[in-house]
Amino acid sequence: MTGTHSDVLILGGGSGGYACAFRAAQLALSVTLIEADKVGGTCLHRGCIPTKALLHSAEVADTARTGSAFGVRTTFDGIDLDAVHEYKNGTIDRLYKGLQGLIAHHQVTTVSGHGTYVGDRTIEVNGVRYTGSSVVLATGSYARTVPFIELGERIVTSDDALKLGFVPKKAVVLGGGVIGVEFASVWASFGAEVTVVEALPRLVAAEDPWCSKQLERAFRKRGISARTGVKVESAKESADGVLVELEGGETLDADVLLVAVGRGPRTADGGFAEHGITLDRGFVVADERLRAGVDGVYAVGDVVAGLQLAHRGFQHGVFVAEEIAGLAPVPVAEHLVPRVTYSHPEVASVGFTEDAARERYGDVTSVVYDLAGNGKSQILNTAGGVKVVRAGDTGPVVGVHMVGDRVGELIGEAQLTVAWEALPSDVAPFVHAHPTQNEALGEAMLALSGKPLHRHG
Ligand SMILES: Cc1cc2nc3c(=O)[nH]c(=O)nc-3n(C[C@H](O)[C@H](O)[C@H](O)COP(=O)(O)OP(=O)(O)OC[C@H]3O[C@@H](n4cnc5c(N)ncnc54)[C@H](O)[C@@H]3O)c2cc1C
Repeated sequence: MTGTHSDVLILGGGSGGYACAFRAAQLALSVTLIEADKVGGTCLHRGCIPTKALLHSAEVADTARTGSAFGVRTTFDGIDLDAVHEYKNGTIDRLYKGLQGLIAHHQVTTVSGHGTYVGDRTIEVNGVRYTGSSVVLATGSYARTVPFIELGERIVTSDDALKLGFVPKKAVVLGGGVIGVEFASVWASFGAEVTVVEALPRLVAAEDPWCSKQLERAFRKRGISARTGVKVESAKESADGVLVELEGGETLDADVLLVAVGRGPRTADGGFAEHGITLDRGFVVADERLRAGVDGVYAVGDVVAGLQLAHRGFQHGVFVAEEIAGLAPVPVAEHLVPRVTYSHPEVASVGFTEDAARERYGDVTSVVYDLAGNGKSQILNTAGGVKVVRAGDTGPVVGVHMVGDRVGELIGEAQLTVAWEALPSDVAPFVHAHPTQNEALGEAMLALSGKPLHRHG
């Protein structure tokens, strides 16, 4: 059976797919969006939003626990997990309704069901064939698992960890990347004894090593154990717990084991490879203009190797819609995608790590401004710092790396600085409101311009 023909036919209604749909509709293109589950995808239903809601509950728990340090009599009486889930699900529901409203507003045609690319800019859903002048593959990603670890009630990926029906007393997190670190932070705030096991030598290994050190120190202070450079050999679930064996024979027992070993591209069941789309380790091979190697077919978001972040997906989607409309947009620069880990404390960065910058520019200069000197951070009682990397000793700012509570909110200024290739001396004259954490960024720029105000040396 033949379905509709659209200017843009999109497979997958997550961040990448729906952003593409909205921008294409704004540009007066007709759009059909095929989604097997719920529009909003991973980010809204199983990713960014639910985890950040849990992290906010975790922050409130910590605030209740530490009230007396600020002269406020509070007690922490425990976590009402049903209420936590209600709050989290309520947040998702409101945003989901809003998103559905936007789809209607943009007059995007939605098709519900699993789509298979059958070649010739055609996707089949439940026996109906939809065609597009352009096709956009936006099927996203899934939680990877470990072949020798069987998932169960207590051995879970992030999908099930978000719905866990109990607060663990003891938790082991396998994987010290963003997702593992965020869950470790939540569970520790909820009162669990948490161990993160990471095979690489440090937590958040994609970040500048300085960030890892700061985060590991903060986690140590919170009683979260980070076992880095260690592999898990096996994990077995019983009725009342999980036994995790590390290499070397040491065992850890826990109520729950989170397997957070990264996310794989969801490309195996969409007919891609069968119809000429080249895959590399499962990811769609796309060029800088996100063309998927077959005329008129594009790929956006997590199916394209690189940072698996919702806002990268949004930007990919917008880019492709504008490309299809002939606007010749500027390609999305991977290193300018801001990265935030929303743990307590947060880690936020944009641009190159110091090592990557050295590789690229030969020589670099960096400064660290310690939050110990920042008034607002002291008021909030948070530790950490801001590290700024410049090319050579006179070049532009090419990387900003921050650790501390709420530093994710500073990433906007950092991003503008790096993306506009500003010199520290371009930024230094801008007045930062006092007392804000933004001042720490300003102080780092002042220091790099040779005129530190609240910094020794
Ligand atoms: C626990 C967790 C926390 C996260 N936190 C953050 C965060 O704080 N910030 C951030 O930026 N990113 C975060 N992410 C990552 C973010 O969720 C993803 O980068 C983003 O969702 C990718 O968007 P996408 O459109 O590429 O794919 P997805 O959101 O995965 O959407 C793909 C959609 O395609 C559909 N689909 C797949 N195959 C088919 C098919 N054959 N037919 C029809 N439909 C299909 C799926 O059902 C899905 O809805 C997090 C992820 C996780 C798992």
